[in-house]
This record gives sequence, structure tokens and C-alpha cells, in this order.
Amino acid sequence: MKIKFQVVVESDDSQPQIIQEITEIERSYLQPENLGLSLTEAKTLLKKVQQTLVEQQIAEYEHQQNSCQHCQKKLLHKDKRTIVYRTLFGKLKLPCNRLFHCSCQKHSTRTFQPLANLLKQRTSPELLYLESKFASLMSYGLSVKLLEELLPIEGQINPTTVRNNVHKIAQRLENELGDEIDTYIEGTPRDWEQLPRPDLPLVVGVDGGYVRYYDKHNKKAGNFEVIVGKSIKADSTSKRFGFTYSYDDKPKRRIFEVLKSQGMQPHQQVTVISDGDEKIRELLWGLNPSTEHILDWFHITMRITVMNQMAKGLTTKDFKLRKSIKEDLTSVKWYLWHGNVYKALQLIQYLLDDTWFLAKGERKSCPVALKLYDMMEKFHTYISNNEGLIPNYGERWRYEESISSSFVESTVNQVISKRMVKKQQMRWTPQGAHLLLQIRTQVLNGELKEKFQHWYSGIQLNR
Ligand SMILES: [Zn+2]
Repeated sequence: MKIKFQVVVESDDSQPQIIQEITEIERSYLQPENLGLSLTEAKTLLKKVQQTLVEQQIAEYEHQQNSCQHCQKKLLHKDKRTIVYRTLFGKLKLPCNRLFHCSCQKHSTRTFQPLANLLKQRTSPELLYLESKFASLMSYGLSVKLLEELLPIEGQINPTTVRNNVHKIAQRLENELGDEIDTYIEGTPRDWEQLPRPDLPLVVGVDGGYVRYYDKHNKKAGNFEVIVGKSIKADSTSKRFGFTYSYDDKPKRRIFEVLKSQGMQPHQQVTVISDGDEKIRELLWGLNPSTEHILDWFHITMRITVMNQMAKGLTTKDFKLRKSIKEDLTSVKWYLWHGNVYKALQLIQYLLDDTWFLAKGERKSCPVALKLYDMMEKFHTYISNNEGLIPNYGERWRYEESISSSFVESTVNQVISKRMVKKQQMRWTPQGAHLLLQIRTQVLNGELKEKFQHWYSGIQLNR
């Protein structure tokens, strides 16, 4: 049996119908593999329907543009050019008229190209959306493979064009982000008193991660820092943000907009949980009058766990000392859990003396003890530097308040690692990483679609 596909065009102005042949499909005995359309047939069908549909739309548009929009006089035709336009269903070569302007109005140029002006961006919005969405989730190369697999665009897109398009979309988002200002706090305490009771605190976890430099001239170029974070509302809905620290010139605005979109009120408390990094605290400064900074319990307990592991490897025969080191480590953890930094630091000092004795004091020195000593010394500095950020974790925990941004560890993993450091050979420029992060966080926050719908009001996107 033969099945023919046709397109029937019915114009608005009672012109005769146009019937165009699209393609033919043949089928013999029914087999599971020939029931319905194959992907290849579907691709051919879509590609041809697209061409026919576009031809009709262009013909109608050019016809409408042929006369002056002011006096309806027919415009003089100069010549025809071809523009290339990429769509989900194939790359199209569109004939594009160049017309002389009508003399009834003043114009800065003699001629114009209506269609080329209309299609300034030579990739259709929907293809741009899909390219951005996929590229935010997987590598540029894989995105191309996936799109080519499913759509009739084989050989028409490549990783470089996808990357350039993603950068353009991200740059558009960047341009729409407001300017960086000194303070984002509005009003006075008296104004805030008039407001209804605020929601429970917003919890913001922030952390840094590293990605590898791409530098043509220096293969051994190191890493640069990317900061990511997540803001969680009392109802546990969350949004992510991310940026390249050395590249971004409006990081506070970026974070502020995320908090604002989370419904942050001026008198609402914001709890920031971080590893104590000075620059991260600085980034959150001036966004909200009642910001409380807390040292991430996760970072404390992670360090103690590592030291505990090391203590197991101590080779000394002095079992009593080994036992007391282990016990003291556990006590340090509990002092810190209850926010008793003074006692914790005192005990760490004793531990430093003990491990120093093991490392240097015995006839046979123990390399593990030396490592443990180094780590303990760093821990001492870490705790004393961050003394003011250590609350009574136990009490907070009882009141079900956040004490840890382990959710940020997973955010770092989700936002950066999965897309940007999965393979050792993945290298980035600070700008390239920054721009991709903007798309990636938008996609993970479920916001990219809204942006496209805002930019292109007629666009229809999948759920
Ligand atoms: Zn005119």
C-alpha cells in the first residue's frame, strides 16, 4: 500500500486552495517494525512540511510588505538575497526581498529587507531554547548528538554554534540583570515594623568549587573559583545561583534577585551557612538587615572525622595516649556542637601537645602523628578564626533550625561538578563557565522556559 502526504493551504483572502505533495510512504505486510512511522520517515516528513509551511508564510509576509505601510503605494523591488535560518526541522534558505523605501516618509537608508529585519537572530527561538536547555545539562558535543538524533538537522549544528548560542542567551540574561549597587536594603526599621510578620528565615548555603582553566598558550594553567549557592524557603522550595568569582561584576545583585524571587521581605531573617570564607560573607553583606552567618556544622564534623581516621593509624605503642587522643577528639566535637568554643580550643591545644609528642618526642617518630598535628593546627586556626560564627548547634537542632549546608555540597555537585568537572579534560574560560552557569541555574530552577515565554510571547514550549 502507498500512503501519500499532502499539505493543503487555505488562504484568508479566498484564493484557491493550494495542494502540495510532501512525501510517499510504502508498506507491505505488517511487521512490528513497520507499524506507523519510523524516525527517518518522521524526520523527512517534518522537514518537508516545514519547508512548505515556511514557503507559504514567507510568500504571504513578503506580499504584505510589498506596499508602503503608510500610503499603501507599491514599493519598488531592488533585488533578492538569501538568508540562512535554522529551525528545529531543518536549516532553511529563505529568499529575502530588498525593497526601496517609499518616498512618503523620511528614511536613513534607501533600501530595506523586511524579512531579514524580522529574523535578526538566525536561529529560531525554540531551537535556541532546546540548545540552551540540553547544553546546560550535558556537554555541547552530546547536546548536538542528541538533537541530531531526534530532529532532521543532521550536520546542521555543531558544538561551537551551540556554545555561541548558549553564550548569547546567557548574555541576554546578564544584560537584563540590574546594576550592582552599594546596598540592597530598603527602608528603615520603623518602616519594617509596619509590615506584617515575616515568613520564617530564608536559609542560604554558599560554597565554592573549582574548575580548570582553558588557556591555549598555557596547558598547565590551574583552576579558578566558581561560587554556587542555594536559597531554601520555609516551605522547602529552593533556587540556585552560581557565578565565576573573578569574572562576575554584579554577584550581590545576582544573589539578591534570587532571594527576592524567593519572597524575601526586608525584615525577614536570612541565615547564611558557609565554610566561613571571608569573601563569601562579604558577598552576602548588605542584602538584608538581619543576616545571620553560621559556620557550617558539616565542615566542622567533616574535619573531625578525618582526624579521627588519622588517629586510628597512629603507630605508637602508648595505648593510653592513643585512647585519650580519640576521646579528646570526640569531646572537641561535642563542645563545638554546644557552641562552647572556649573549651573546644583548650582541648585542641592539649591535643596539639599530645600529637607533637608522638610526632617528635618518641625515639621513633610517627609520620601519621605529624600529619595529624598539621591538620589539628589548621583546625585550631579554623575554629579560632570563625569563633563568632559558631552557634549552639545542639540548641538550633532542637528548634529545627538549619545547622548545615550539606545541601550546598550537593548543589556544588549538581551545579558545577556534573556539568563542568566530570572529565579531567574539561577546561573552561572564566567567562564561558560563568555564562553556562547562568543557563544551568535557570534550568535547574525551572526558570528558563519562563524567560523564553517572556521574550517571545507567541512561543509554544513543551511542559
Ligand atoms: Zn508611502
